[in-house]
This record gives sequence, structure tokens and C-alpha cells, in this order.
Amino acid sequence: MAEMLTEIAPGVLVATSSYDLTTTTVVLSGGGGCLVIDPAVTVAELAGLSAGLAGRGLRPAVAWSTHPHWDHVLWSRELGDAPRYAAAAAVRAAQTARDAILAQAAESAPGHDRLLIGRLIPLDAPAIPWHGPTAEVIVHDGHAPGHGAVFLPGTGVLVAGDMCSDVEIPLLDLDATDPLGAYRTGLRRLAAVAGVRQVVPGHGHVGDAAGFRRRLSMDAAYLDALAAGRPVRDPRLGGQCPQWLRGTHEAQVRRYRRPPRGLSPPGGRPG
Ligand SMILES: [Zn+2]
Repeated sequence: MAEMLTEIAPGVLVATSSYDLTTTTVVLSGGGGCLVIDPAVTVAELAGLSAGLAGRGLRPAVAWSTHPHWDHVLWSRELGDAPRYAAAAAVRAAQTARDAILAQAAESAPGHDRLLIGRLIPLDAPAIPWHGPTAEVIVHDGHAPGHGAVFLPGTGVLVAGDMCSDVEIPLLDLDATDPLGAYRTGLRRLAAVAGVRQVVPGHGHVGDAAGFRRRLSMDAAYLDALAAGRPVRDPRLGGQCPQWLRGTHEAQVRRYRRPPRGLSPPGGRPG
């Protein structure tokens, strides 16, 4: 399999999947170990990833899943038995939704070992415990419960999870009590990270510092329009936009559409 890992900063490698431009990030410890964030997506790509790591003399020492969606909680036997962490709320959500996660993985990326999908250890700590470069976690509930971005202060790389994408609009967790509020809190936490030089979105392309700021303001503008019931003008909904993304956008618009005066919102959550 062709080399798929690209070094975006010293000791930080990124691979991009054929499936929805899903990214995998690898951080080198310097001693042959590495931190693997969101290994994805297909069986062949995970095999290529483990071969690519082995070819560089690397083995996963620890892993992190940014959030409890099927395409971010995959693993393979060849990647070894490193502890795989996620935020506590993400682990709970992955357990609750286990059947759905397994079904989605089987449909979209068949052939993974079901026993290894979503086997996560809850971590409630400000950083991932390992012997490599400091890897701070920024946890919030925008997009999914216990969504944990990873910031590497040494290189200024922010692994944003499913936020700050150049190809995807903000995807709200519509099962949450306050999807918009949770997403805005997440964006605020990411915006507050000082020293971001590159951003790695869960789906899309790596962006520089200016691109990071641009994506934050595009996301904020999207959410403002949604909240106000205004038409959304977002370049990510343009000609290249996949059908599922447009459908998700329409569902989000429906959720926040202003009811006619005097009517309560249809299907609104009580309280
Ligand atoms: Zn996701």
C-alpha cells in the first residue's frame, strides 16, 4: 500500500482516508512509541496505517478517540494493545450506542473486528498520559457528547475532531438538550486555545493559523444564521456538497425554524 502518512509538523503525521476525507493523526514520542488519534477508516486503510507505522519503526503507545461516532472509534489487531482513551462522556455514549456504531461500521466500512470497535477507556485528565509531547485535551459536548480535541502545544497542532472543517458545516448533536449552545461552547473552547499554528479537522484538509480562524468564524456565522432562522450562506454547502451533508443541514434548519407567532415549536423538547 502506498505511503499515506504526511508529516505536517515535526513528529506529527496525518493520513487522510478515502472515506469522507477522514483524518488520522499520529504523534511521535521520540522513543519509537506514538499516539494515534482516530485511526480510520477502512480495513485496508488501517492495515496501511499499521504497516506505515511499522515501516518507520513506530508502535502505538496510546490512542485517543475524539468522539463516540463509529468512524472515530475503530482499531485493528495489528495496531496492538495500546490503551485507547476518550473523554468519560464519550465512552458512556459509545457504550450506549454500541449497536448503532457496530451497524454503521459494518455498513460503511465492512470487515472490521467488532470486538475492537469502540473499546475505550474513560479519561478525565487535562492531558493524555504518555511519554511523548504534551497532548492537552479540550472536552465539550458540541457535535457529540464528550468531544475531545487534542492540542499539542509543542508544535501548535490542534486536532479538532469533527469541528473546524473546510468541507463540513457544523454538525450539531440534535439529541442534546441544547445542541446550538453546546456547539458554541465547543467553538469558544477551541478559539481560546493559544498558539494554534495548524488545525487538523476530523474530515477535511489541514489548515494553517489563518485558516483555523477563518473556519471558526464560518462556523459561528453558520450557527448565528441557524439560530436566527435566517437563510444560511456557507461555501461548504456549495456545488461539491454531498447529499448527506445537505440533508443534515436541512434537518438542522428544521430544528431551529422559528414557529409562526403564537404557536409552540413542533416536537419541541419540554422544558
Ligand atoms: Zn462525528
